[in-house]
Amino acid sequence: MAASEPDRVHVPEGDPNETSVGLGGLPDRDGRVTLDACIMDEFANCGAVACLEHIVHPISVARMVMEKTPHVMLVGEGALQFALANGFKKEKLLTASSEKAWREWLKKAEYKPVANIENHDTIGMLALDAKENISGACTTSGMAYKMKGRVGDSPIIGAGLFVDNEIGAATSTGVGEEVIRICGSHLVVELMRQGNSPQEACEKAVLRVVKNQPQKSKDLQVGFLAINKAGEYGAYALQKGFTYAVYSPEISNTIFQAKSYY
Ligand code: ASP
Repeated sequence: MAASEPDRVHVPEGDPNETSVGLGGLPDRDGRVTLDACIMDEFANCGAVACLEHIVHPISVARMVMEKTPHVMLVGEGALQFALANGFKKEKLLTASSEKAWREWLKKAEYKPVANIENHDTIGMLALDAKENISGACTTSGMAYKMKGRVGDSPIIGAGLFVDNEIGAATSTGVGEEVIRICGSHLVVELMRQGNSPQEACEKAVLRVVKNQPQKSKDLQVGFLAINKAGEYGAYALQKGFTYAVYSPEISNTIFQAKSYY
């Protein structure tokens, strides 16, 4: 994949059956679908949107923030205004099945950002092209039933995604608050700079979460995925169930299970 194409994450964003991103993403506790995304290229150019409503492809808006503004991040109303001014269409993102799940959740309305596969997930993509240039993208609807205005790690450069074209790139999933606390993706890249393989770097970053929250980490999910300049990759998570896909000249789109701490 060319380093200029990490925004291919727009495929799951547009899939109404994918409940963790874009169209059909699970809403916040008021029933509003608010999306977070960021993108970063080999020149350290980056763009992000947070708490963006009504736009199916937040990653494309993030790319436009990167390419057309002097800023890195636009949020909420401002991000929506910018998207609409640049030709994006306002759409209803809450699908019938996401609305049904939300109404079911409302019966108890318990917000527990625990590690189950229904209430969270993120699509992160890291790309190394034939010229060995690295780029990445990260997109999510965030923790399901989150508080209004809550933003996690995914649109934050250094937390949900980080690219350093000399070293490698990393992206994350799981409880964003825990990833932000350790500047997760930046940490993984810096660990690779110190000589760790992508796998070792992901493992050390997850251990940092455990060190911060020894008790809480038993019930949380945090996962990292990393690639280095040589095309080696690795992934590690607190809990089982974190999967990633690899696509290369040798491997055609194979799904792997990441190793986990628990
Ligand atoms: N990291 C995302 C967030 O905290 C959600 C996830 O990946 O599960 O918003």
